[in-house]
Amino acid sequence: MGRIVLDKISKSFGDVEVIPPLDLAINDGEFTVFVGPSGCGKSTLLRLIAGLEDSSGGHIRIDHEDATHVPPAKRGLAMVFQSYALYPHMSVRKNIAFPLKMAKMDKAEIDRRVEGAASVLNLTDYLDRRPGQLSGGQRQRVAIGRAIVREPSAFLFDEPLSNLDAALRVGMRLEISELHKRLKTTMIYVTHDQVEAMTMADKIVVLQAGVIEQVGSPLELYRAPRNVFVAGFIGSPK
Ligand code: ADP
Ligand code: MG
Repeated sequence: MGRIVLDKISKSFGDVEVIPPLDLAINDGEFTVFVGPSGCGKSTLLRLIAGLEDSSGGHIRIDHEDATHVPPAKRGLAMVFQSYALYPHMSVRKNIAFPLKMAKMDKAEIDRRVEGAASVLNLTDYLDRRPGQLSGGQRQRVAIGRAIVREPSAFLFDEPLSNLDAALRVGMRLEISELHKRLKTTMIYVTHDQVEAMTMADKIVVLQAGVIEQVGSPLELYRAPRNVFVAGFIGSPK
């Protein structure tokens, strides 16, 4: 579970081809980072995988099944949003349980999953609080908890830490890496931050103007960048 294959997937907005036909395979359990400058198509690619955008051409397979026209909620993937997407008037428990409530899941099963996620994320003592009573890091963990309870075959993150201060960002990177180690679930993580990519990824996908410039482990990209763009991008931290 958690293998995602893009086969000549492409995306145009009107006359503008933002992503020319592109192939990519993400293996089960892999932590893959899409990295590239602002506007290069990272979010669009992630949204195509999530089903939040319709592709203009090509196919997406998830766990060997054609998911190209499968609606987002049925793809078995969970997108993690920034913590400001939490409902301020709801408790942590209700925020985390929200997607399961919407899916009309049985209450005992909801409780079991919420408590399991809270335990993994060290939020057990905070389930009755509201987001406003939590630290920034705790709020981001609640946003992640909301994805965990869906037991997805892959987690999709779109720059989840970009509105956090530098110190908290470092801590949250560790939290997410730790979560990946524990769950061993496929994660796709979008960032424009080279340091984040180099420190978190099993596999990095470097994008420029919707085109994959190189795919490889952080060490492969560091030792053998395929071109000047990759060398400059990976070699020059912000
Ligand atoms: P990134 O996440 O790497 O910053 P995006 O995927 O958001 O890049 O955007 C890639 C390109 O597609 C940009 O030129 C952006 O302006 C364009 N784009 C993204 N979404 C839309 C849309 N809904 N309509 C028109 N153009 C879009
Ligand atoms: Mg983006």
